[in-house]
Amino acid sequence: MVVVAGSAATGAVVAVEPGRLGGGEPGKVAVLLALTTVSELGGLRLRHRGALESLSLYESMLVANTALLPAGPAMLVSLAGLLLAQALLRRAPVKVLFNAGMYGAALGPAVLLYHATAAAGAPLAPRSVVAMAFAVAVFALLNLLLISQLIATVEERSAGEVVSESSKTSTLTFLGNASVGLIGVTLWLRAPVVLPAVLLPVATLYLAYRSAARETEERDRFQNLYEIGQSLASSLDLDDVLPVVLPRIARLFGAAEARLLFASGVSRPFGAIQDAEGFRYGPASDADLEALRLLGDSMHPVLGIRDDAPAGWREVLAAPLVAQGRHHGVILLGNREERRPRLSRGSTRFTSRDRQLLSPLASGLAVSISNATRLAQIKEEKSKLEQILGHSSDGILLLDGKGRVRLWNQAMERITGVPAEEAVGLAYNEWLAGPDPGGNQVTLESVLAETGPDSPRASAEVRIHTSEGLERWLRCNHSLLFDGDAWTTDVVIVHDVTAIRQTERLKADFVATVSHELRTPITPIKGYVELLRIKGDKLAPEKRQEILRVMAERAEHMARLIEDLLLASRISSGRPGSTMPGLQMERLDLVRAARTAAADWLREPTRLTLELPDEPLEVDADPMRLGQVLANLLSNAHKYSPADELVVFRVEQDGGWARASVIDHGRGIPREELERIFDKFHRVDDPMTMTTGGTGLGLYIARELARAMGGEIEASSVLHQGSTFTLRLPLAAAAETAADHWPAPASA
Ligand code: ADP
Repeated sequence: MVVVAGSAATGAVVAVEPGRLGGGEPGKVAVLLALTTVSELGGLRLRHRGALESLSLYESMLVANTALLPAGPAMLVSLAGLLLAQALLRRAPVKVLFNAGMYGAALGPAVLLYHATAAAGAPLAPRSVVAMAFAVAVFALLNLLLISQLIATVEERSAGEVVSESSKTSTLTFLGNASVGLIGVTLWLRAPVVLPAVLLPVATLYLAYRSAARETEERDRFQNLYEIGQSLASSLDLDDVLPVVLPRIARLFGAAEARLLFASGVSRPFGAIQDAEGFRYGPASDADLEALRLLGDSMHPVLGIRDDAPAGWREVLAAPLVAQGRHHGVILLGNREERRPRLSRGSTRFTSRDRQLLSPLASGLAVSISNATRLAQIKEEKSKLEQILGHSSDGILLLDGKGRVRLWNQAMERITGVPAEEAVGLAYNEWLAGPDPGGNQVTLESVLAETGPDSPRASAEVRIHTSEGLERWLRCNHSLLFDGDAWTTDVVIVHDVTAIRQTERLKADFVATVSHELRTPITPIKGYVELLRIKGDKLAPEKRQEILRVMAERAEHMARLIEDLLLASRISSGRPGSTMPGLQMERLDLVRAARTAAADWLREPTRLTLELPDEPLEVDADPMRLGQVLANLLSNAHKYSPADELVVFRVEQDGGWARASVIDHGRGIPREELERIFDKFHRVDDPMTMTTGGTGLGLYIARELARAMGGEIEASSVLHQGSTFTLRLPLAAAAETAADHWPAPASA
């Protein structure tokens, strides 16, 4: 678009007043063209962030061309000089076209204005001078607006802001160039001999340009530094900071490449890289290592230019990144050696000023890296701690000085059923106050009553209820941190000791039960012995016989009890899965064994009903142990159901199994207890059981025996309606058929 506008303006000017290029004065045109070219070549280029501004004497030559040539040639010579200069500077063709378009667009209106208003053929007439001043102003204004628009687009700022920023240099350009141009024209026309005198104002203008250029450069640097500072402070994460900061630093120093190499690491340093390909992380290149060598052990920035530059580099700036006495890495800035050196005017060269500037920047970067490293360490520590807390099987909680929960780990959630979100912020006593084993209420205050800076530990055991209402015994060990006399933090480690407590209770119950069970038969035995000792001779023989029978029965009961205890201990000390020692297995008929076991319960008045098949059911079992199992089931059915309720004893075949079931109509067993009644010493905690004698060993032993004989005992029960216990043993016939052995045994 710019090119089209420029061409249109040029075309218009040439059309309005074509003149004649040369116009009989080819020398004049050639001189003006040469001077125009030189004026553009000698300009100062300002790298203004993204865009390039130039301060040159070009506008002076516009004045000269416009005053001394007809409009068309003036326009063409001005543009040709510009193109020539740009070609000599090896600008990219696109840029040249763009610049020519822009100048053409600004120049056209200016030249037309001059030729429309100036006194014809009298460039030094007052009217012409005023016209020239206006024309140059129009050019400068249009040029300013166009360039500002361009910069504003590149930097994504408002055009107005850029205009006001550049207006100072533009005014300088306008005034300086207009006067130099006019002086030159005057001298050309009036006293060409003294034309070289124009060099004086030219030199003055050039100096003014230099200082303006410096000012712009400083402003730019300041802005860049400010932005770098902002970015460094914006985040503690290097991955956020470096991709923004490194390109800015490179731009600040006019370096094509920038590296930030970290001190830690492997044989070859690794770091952030900014170059023509953009930002990335990667290992240092060989050229980088050369540059590092240049820095050596220096604690200050080092500059390497031309002959001092390390191999592969035209210039290098390197600085160590040191913060709090620690070396965090190195920053390298540089421009590579080019194989085909181009006209290097205007290209940035590092100076000792750059070295000074790098020093505070390197410190800032070092602090950022140091902070980021520390943050990463803290994060890692934190995540380690969180893992430890999370995986700990013990509950861990932290209390603040006011006794409020600050931390509640996963184990605490598991133990209490209270999630951390709910627990944190509330008082310790809310969750962990409760009675100790002695029944005394324990609170945080009571536990910590005896603590002080010299004895910062305390411990207590409390009973709590979980959120599901289950009872838990917890041992809470407190460790206090003191600030002066007041504690500020309490670290509490919580062990769940419920299982230990339960076992202890079980043991206590067991001792009580066994003592009771042993004492029960001893009392009548002692009484009868006493009776026999005192009145034995006087008693009728039948009575004596009766007493002796009861005594024998009680002694037998005691023997059985002791036998049970020994057997249970033998079973539980055996390895799981190992065969039970002392089993005498033989082929026998379960129906017959059932009839024998039932005989004790069939004495009148009986409530036992037998449902036995006519056919025998052959099984392999230890007859004595089988009798013990059946007796236990029958005894329990009678013990745990009312005396007027029937008990059914049924034996039947079920596939390859022989089954013996004892069905009662007693109070039944709660569902959650159905499996636990087979545990050693376990008795259902209900009034009926507790008023009935027993050790809680019978079913444990019965199931172990059944399993040892290749079978199983199962229980089913409906609370308040009754229970069914079933022993099943594999049928010998089925086992044999499967093994394709002897014919079925004869029925007994
Ligand atoms: P014991 O009868 O000596 O207590 P067991 O091991 O034989 O020990 O039984 C364990 C518990 O199972 C008993 O204390 C009782 O609470 C329960 N139990 C066993 N059989 C029955 C039954 N038929 N009906 C109800 N509860 C039973």
